[in-house]
Amino acid sequence: MTGLRCGFATDTGLVRHNNQDHLLVADHLFAVADGMGGHVGGEVASHVAIEALEQAFGNDGERSSDDLLTAVHRANEAVYERSVEDASLRGMGTTMTAAALVVAEGEERIAVANVGDSRAYVFSQGDLTQLTEDHSVAEELVRQGQLEPEEADTHPQRHILTRAMGILPDVEVDLWEILPYTGDRLLLCSDGLVREVTDDQIASVLRRLANPTEAAQELVARARAAGGSDNITVVVVDVVDDDDRARTASEALADEPVEHESEPVPAPTGEAEEEGGGGTATFSAPKRRRLTFRVVLFVVLLLAVIGAGAFAIVSYARDSYFVTLGPPASASDATSRPLVIYQGRPGGLLWFDPTLVSTTRVVESEVLPVHWADLRKGVVFGSKAGAEGYVTNLVKEAAAAAPPSTTTTTTTTTR
Ligand code: MN
Repeated sequence: MTGLRCGFATDTGLVRHNNQDHLLVADHLFAVADGMGGHVGGEVASHVAIEALEQAFGNDGERSSDDLLTAVHRANEAVYERSVEDASLRGMGTTMTAAALVVAEGEERIAVANVGDSRAYVFSQGDLTQLTEDHSVAEELVRQGQLEPEEADTHPQRHILTRAMGILPDVEVDLWEILPYTGDRLLLCSDGLVREVTDDQIASVLRRLANPTEAAQELVARARAAGGSDNITVVVVDVVDDDDRARTASEALADEPVEHESEPVPAPTGEAEEEGGGGTATFSAPKRRRLTFRVVLFVVLLLAVIGAGAFAIVSYARDSYFVTLGPPASASDATSRPLVIYQGRPGGLLWFDPTLVSTTRVVESEVLPVHWADLRKGVVFGSKAGAEGYVTNLVKEAAAAAPPSTTTTTTTTTR
């Protein structure tokens, strides 16, 4: 049985008046949700999502990745239904990044599901790797090669989500499965951490502080010290026992026999454990194990890179959508131009001319002026849902920008 130990911390930060983040730390289920929408909406959305997730996932018997996926979909429905029932909560939404211990093909794995711009990272052998992809306008543009990663940090649309929980009756959920190895750490966090603390700084904290609670608290403290412009939530899950998987993998791959250290394997812990549980011995893995793990990791990464490259070429040619402005609904009023969604690329690519997919009910004047220039040029997405999500978020952003609350600070220049 895989043993996990976790620590967590959450904080309102220095700018916001309330904490709209929620987290979940259950036996084999961990999650972070970052709510948005109005004064109370955000807090309700993340709370409803977390509660529904926990209830739907349950806590007895074996669970699979599909069970996690189902639970995230249930959580989406719960938030959506609540926002439909209560007019004061209309338009609320939340991110969700969830991790669970599951069984697949007879072995235990950690499944990670994501919607929105909260993140999951894997810290393994001293290296930090971001597992999830942010569903934000800026990150979509980076993935499409239209924006440099450095530019994304300051892009005016970096906080606009292209996908969120509770906005529509159903939502597309990203899912990963990873093999837990002793010593690996999983980090779940809301964007309040990564807005303030770089990946290098996060890695250095995870290297230095072996206790997950101390690591989580230190990360939150760093985000506050760097400005704390948003709510900050961190969950650190440590693999303290991998059921001897690392040793078995090492023996299978090693070309010479491994001398068996008589190092005692700690008793299976099973549950997310109380603080201070002994696990220090399990952090000193034999050297050979590290090497073979790196080989496996290299092959996995290589396949991922090849796969991503092929996918990028195909999607660039065929699967892109963009949002732009259509002809005005009335000839007398130029500001009544509707937002329209095209399949293809702005201006066309090779012999592919863009085709009109849908004309939305949203018109230019309902969107913040800061987006008008981008809309005229066309804002590109990898999916129709992404384009639709963008339109939805533009409307939400305009609603949120109306007094009293301001969430997205952009440099709006008056023309
Ligand atoms: Mn946030």
